[in-house]
Amino acid sequence: SEEFYKRTVARLQRIQGHLAEAPRSGRLRGKVCVITGVGSVKGIGRATAMLFAHEGAKHLYLLDFDETNLPDLKQAIEGKYPDVKATVQQGDASDEETIENLVKRAMQEEGRLDVFYANAGIATIDSVHNTSTEVFMRVMRINALSCFIAIKHASLAMMKANPSRGKEHSGGSIILTASVAGLRSGAGSVDYSASKAAVNNMAQTASYQLRNSDIRVNSICPGLIETGMTAQTFDYAASRGTTGKIGQLNPMGRYGVAQEIANMALFLASDEASYVNGQNYAVDGGLSSSHPVAP
Ligand code: NAD
Repeated sequence: SEEFYKRTVARLQRIQGHLAEAPRSGRLRGKVCVITGVGSVKGIGRATAMLFAHEGAKHLYLLDFDETNLPDLKQAIEGKYPDVKATVQQGDASDEETIENLVKRAMQEEGRLDVFYANAGIATIDSVHNTSTEVFMRVMRINALSCFIAIKHASLAMMKANPSRGKEHSGGSIILTASVAGLRSGAGSVDYSASKAAVNNMAQTASYQLRNSDIRVNSICPGLIETGMTAQTFDYAASRGTTGKIGQLNPMGRYGVAQEIANMALFLASDEASYVNGQNYAVDGGLSSSHPVAP
């Protein structure tokens, strides 16, 4: 109902307002971080970049395919947090040379890499019969291959930087963005779900392969989050006056906001997560564990 929707929005605004005004705790003090997919104004990547800056990251290397909003993001970070440096770059997160060079740049300028958040991704919603091989391969490349490339080059850099890492820091943290669609049957398409399932397994397998390196690899599985990616769903519902119905099958009765995913990324990036490794974390209001059956 409209009343329920209004209450939901008010609750989300309270959550966001509270987080935006929270004092800076310095949980990421001194850390050098790469985040991909930061160019969408309402996206998870941008919310995470702002939160990492808020929590005192030293230098953020920020990449997006679409350069439109990158200068504004750099300004938003450095304007609000003068102690944080933001380097923005246009580029494809699934291009190995681009990522290798970005990581090299961080190592040359800062001599270390603490966090790599592989967040860039694209979504498709189509039937298996309408999905071409080209689309399938593109989704796998951007969503899954990008995570493989991130793990490969971030871990190499982190291992090199290890000897010079100060005692106050734990080893590196590699965070991948999967989806609840990668945990079980998703509402989206087969290509998207398969790519995200691959990401979840990469967190598990890579964490084991990188054993004894003090590098942690985990993935985050967001539920339905209001971002640029889902704007069409929200716009369509708004045009029909049914926004209140979005998320009604969720145990929390609502969809999520980017900040709520950023909070999990912050925890995984911080030293507080020093024994958290090889896991796939659903941040979905309980959706993936509740098995609602649609009428
Ligand atoms: P978004 O579309 O708002 O932002 C994604 C950003 O990634 C965009 O700025 C886009 O330009 C960038 N990008 C896409 N491909 C890229 C590439 N190859 N190289 C560099 N940048 C690229 O979407 P979002 O919702 O913030 O999505 C972030 C991540 O969260 C994605 O991996 C997505 O699959 C995942 N996710 C989102 C939801 C949701 O409901 N929004 C749910 C589950 C998972």
